[in-house]
Order: sequence, then C-alpha cells, then structure tokens
Amino acid sequence: MEITEVKIYLREQQDRKLRAYATVTFDNAFVVRDLRVIDGRNGLFVAMPSRKLRENCPRCNYKNVMGSRFCNQCGTNLEGIARDRKPGNNKEEHRDIAHPITTEAREYIQKAVLEAYEREKSADTAVETPAAE
Ligand SMILES: [Zn+2]
Repeated sequence: MEITEVKIYLREQQDRKLRAYATVTFDNAFVVRDLRVIDGRNGLFVAMPSRKLRENCPRCNYKNVMGSRFCNQCGTNLEGIARDRKPGNNKEEHRDIAHPITTEAREYIQKAVLEAYEREKSADTAVETPAAE
C-alpha cells in the first residue's frame, strides 16, 4: 500500500484545533477523504474520517444523532433507549469510517499527511518570495 497523493485543505483558525482537511489517494486507485489535521495537546496529529452515529427514533424512525435526549422530529424522549443499547458508554458518538489497523500504517499515513500539510502551509505563507528555479 502506497500513498500516491495527498491533498490538503487548510482550515486555519486561531481558536480552533482543526488545522486542515486532507484527501489521501492509495496506489492511484483508492481515495479516502476527510482526514483531519488536529492541533492536539501533544502536537499535530491526523484524525481518521469519522461519522456521527445515529439511531432511529422508535416512534417515527427519524435518525437522530447518537446521545440525543429527544427526537428532533417528534420529540419522543430517547434517553432510556440510548442507555439500553450501550450501557455505560453513551459518550461514543463518532465512529471511524476508514482507519489503519497497524501502527506502521498509522504512522505512514500520519507522516505523509503532516508533511503535505507543512508543505501546503509554507507555500501559503511564501507567496511574497517565490523560489527561484
Ligand atoms: Zn421521533
């Protein structure tokens, strides 16, 4: 498995931990979108794309965000339902869509994304002094 392209979409905002979105292509054949470059407590890291878990309202079948107290469609109280399904684990509201399963793959992806991010960032700030070829 080889990363053949990384696209970076800078999202710099002073009071936010999210620094950029990344789209990664593997082997010129498989694309994963919505990786995120996060400025965490221990420096930059790459978060895998994730989605908010949703659960159906038992009354109207509307898909609410996991952990919602009331159905957004009909107002049914959902708190008991969330507890029944995931005892003691109501905090888990996001799940990775795609993620590496080995430390090597994780480090490989993170390195490629962070390098592309640094390049994109320096290209962004070096507009005034174009490099001579
Ligand atoms: Zn409902």
